[in-house]
Amino acid sequence: MTIGAEARRTGDPRDTLAAVLDAHESRSVGDPHAILGPAIEARRLAEELGDEESARRAILLHADVLLRDGRLAEGGRMAQQVLAWAEQHDRPFLRARAHRELALFHRLVGEFSDALAHAVQCVAGLEDATPGTRAQHLMMLAVSLDDNGRFADSDRYYRTVLEIASDVRDRSLTLRVLNNMAYNAYETGDESGAIALAELMRQAGARFGQPLAAKERDTIARVEMMGGRYAAVEETLAGALAGALPDHDGDGIAECLLTLAEARRRDGRFEDAQAALDHAVARCDANGHAGVRAQARQEQAALHAAAGRYREAYEEHRIFHAESTALYRERQQARAFALQALFEADEARRATEHFREMAHRDALTGLYNRRYVDERLPALLAEVADGGGPLSVAIVDLDHFKRINDTLSHATGDTVLQQVARLLEEAAEAGGFAARLGGEEFVLVMPGTPAAAAVTRAERLRRRVRAHAWAPLTGVLPVTTSVGVATTADGHATMAALLAAADRHLYAAKHAGRDRVVAARTSFG
Ligand code: GH3
Ligand code: MG
Ligand code: MG
Repeated sequence: MTIGAEARRTGDPRDTLAAVLDAHESRSVGDPHAILGPAIEARRLAEELGDEESARRAILLHADVLLRDGRLAEGGRMAQQVLAWAEQHDRPFLRARAHRELALFHRLVGEFSDALAHAVQCVAGLEDATPGTRAQHLMMLAVSLDDNGRFADSDRYYRTVLEIASDVRDRSLTLRVLNNMAYNAYETGDESGAIALAELMRQAGARFGQPLAAKERDTIARVEMMGGRYAAVEETLAGALAGALPDHDGDGIAECLLTLAEARRRDGRFEDAQAALDHAVARCDANGHAGVRAQARQEQAALHAAAGRYREAYEEHRIFHAESTALYRERQQARAFALQALFEADEARRATEHFREMAHRDALTGLYNRRYVDERLPALLAEVADGGGPLSVAIVDLDHFKRINDTLSHATGDTVLQQVARLLEEAAEAGGFAARLGGEEFVLVMPGTPAAAAVTRAERLRRRVRAHAWAPLTGVLPVTTSVGVATTADGHATMAALLAAADRHLYAAKHAGRDRVVAARTSFG
């Protein structure tokens, strides 16, 4: 059943959407493509519901598929855009999700320290996440620590992930953790630790009632090879020659065959080793596993050498070297391309922010403009209404400003407006913001400021304007302001009503002789 149909059947589509997102975020799946359909449909449903955060969670699921599919530039760009949105809108959980995908991106690109920086941020803001999602994020941190050689730190996180994975019965995650821990033990030469972990892998496989996959068997076989237990290696990797092992990674069986070849070589069975190696090479060539193919050349060189064929060994080693250099170059290029895409996405974000910022600013004074007030003030009113607090506004109008323009010049008038704007900015430092509503009319918005305090702030501003050293600019002409203040005690007022009240008080101030502040407690609705 599709998500949409499921939603129609069960009632509230919001619940269905949340459940689908939670499920795909919190579980590891073998086949990432299985997520693609649900991710795209979840996004469509979220957009239909106007749920912007859920739509972006779905985009991140899609990005994850792209990244695992090797489409690094596309996936990375998507994650980067979601991160920008999450930061702008202060959504900690979504931010954590985006950081996780960016950690994956940088790992795949081979930038391990950047990956770690994102991984560290992907485990913050998970207070409301499901245990499964938390485990997935901690896993990313553990793996990134591994990549940076910090095995002691990663071990701590692996153990936490292991507990959660076993609680939520996530087979794939449980085995991935054990597999990584065992491989670390193998690589650091901790044989007894590696043996214990290999045993835990076998037990977990049995508990979940599923055969171990190729990569998992490969790790166990390598641990067995550490102790020269070659018969055990044969048994663990039985099925590899026939290609009959579950293989979620694509090149898992080829790796098993390589391990088998190595074990047989070490055991002195050169012909059997060659047979396993030939199988490995055939699989690599058929499926395009360039990385394992290069390793196979190295094994071939070792096998030639072990059998005393030094000239062939040298030749094979030479080809190995040339191929891995080419492979390295190719990866560097892919990596440069992917990083460039991410950089451009970030540039685009910065440009958008710059334009948005410009659209909110008044060109002459640099203060916020009317459009910004129209967007910001209703939102502020809603915020203070939630908290039951007050909000005050003061409309500030220059007195007899036409006189300055007419007597001096329009340019002088402009400069006066700019200097008054600086004084308004100063007044806004105590909280809230100042904007130019138009012409020689400004507003000071003061959230959390009750009526009496607002009058004090307005009065201080009025005196600051009057006392400013205007003489060098305007000569004998004074610059003064009239101010109308209005307050809503609990935020329950519309922007229009509040500004209209302030405007009425401003008119009263002009009428009473200018250069003064007028306020009156006004009740709305
Ligand atoms: P009042 O005390 O009653 O407010 O008198 P006023 O002269 O300040 O008010 P009025 O609304 O009659 O005139 C406002 C003037 O502001 C008219 C307009 O030319 C001038 N003005 C509006 N925008 C600008 C600007 O960007 N630069 C300059 N230099 N003048 C402007
Ligand atoms: Mg005026
Ligand atoms: Mg005016």
